[in-house]
Amino acid sequence: MKVAFFSAKDYDQKSFTAANQAYGHELTFFEPRLTPKTASLAAGFRAVCVFINDELGEETLQNIAASGTQLVALRCAGYNNVELDVAQSLGMRVVRVPAYSPYAVAEHAAGLIMMLNRKLYKAYNRIREDNFSLKGLLGFDLHGKTVGIVGTGRIGECFGRIMHGFGCKLLAYDVQENPYLVETGTQYVDLPVLLAQSDITSLHCPLLPATHHMIDQESLAQIKPGAMLINTSRGGLIDTQSAINALKSGQLGSLGIDVYEDEGSLFFQDLSDTVIQDDIFQLLKSFPNVVITAHQGFFTQEALNNISNTTLSNLSDIEDRNVCSNEVA
Ligand code: NAD
Repeated sequence: MKVAFFSAKDYDQKSFTAANQAYGHELTFFEPRLTPKTASLAAGFRAVCVFINDELGEETLQNIAASGTQLVALRCAGYNNVELDVAQSLGMRVVRVPAYSPYAVAEHAAGLIMMLNRKLYKAYNRIREDNFSLKGLLGFDLHGKTVGIVGTGRIGECFGRIMHGFGCKLLAYDVQENPYLVETGTQYVDLPVLLAQSDITSLHCPLLPATHHMIDQESLAQIKPGAMLINTSRGGLIDTQSAINALKSGQLGSLGIDVYEDEGSLFFQDLSDTVIQDDIFQLLKSFPNVVITAHQGFFTQEALNNISNTTLSNLSDIEDRNVCSNEVA
């Protein structure tokens, strides 16, 4: 199948080109994000392959459908950036990679906790400047602390296994319970109870209309004073301005995020010579108790291999059999 890749980085090109030897699709890589402005690049391609921050709203979908695209292959799990009802009305199919490495994201969430708790970002810089003082580096034992997991699917379960290993007490909130976590002692509670009792809350549910800004002014007021909040899921789960207010008042003790609600114009590019125009992001970045990574939770070799193979197999399924188990309904 002829496929136009958008937001394609060197590592995408490398892993997809290697995996494609077993599939034989015709791959063309474009660096820009797919937006209404870049949609014309997809002309003549039966499929587009897109990532997290490509914009597949009504205008883009209508443009690419008009120039012959029939399939959207997401090389990620989330599909909140695709207007599914519009795609359906245009007869366009949408496939995704539901799981590629829950370990990658769960381990990154654990990494953010360690980094914030033990102030590893400060320690790293201090040693480079021959400052061997421990002042300001005091952390706490994770052992015995209460960790709240919001969303206990594949990634939430892996994260729970890791935190269980640290000796934490686990609370969870989800619309459905995870049998493994229940069996191993995790207690399901309502979100306000989880927020009020957890020393660390970690978000692992998808971004949906029901979860948009689930962490807002009201829920931040319910959080245990001084608690840590981790988000490796989607930026839109947190109302950033409310999080900033809670950090300023001390209600929120620390924040570790791999995702940001307006990350589309920032992440996955080198803007080191640019003046960043997003004042909210700049303010957030300035807090000493905030750690931000640029959506790298998924970024392990194992995950990249799985993403390439599943995406190419999804394309073959549609081309050869017209059915794909990873189609988004
Ligand atoms: P999953 O589908 O296995 O699990 C999601 C869980 O969220 C499910 O148990 C579901 O019941 C629950 N859920 C749905 N609606 C909810 C609600 N209203 N309140 C509470 N829980 C709700 O998904 P997953 O593979 O574990 O991935 C979770 C999220 O992680 C994805 O949606 C994606 O946004 C994010 N993610 C981030 C990265 C990264 O690089 N940072 C990579 C992959 C996925």
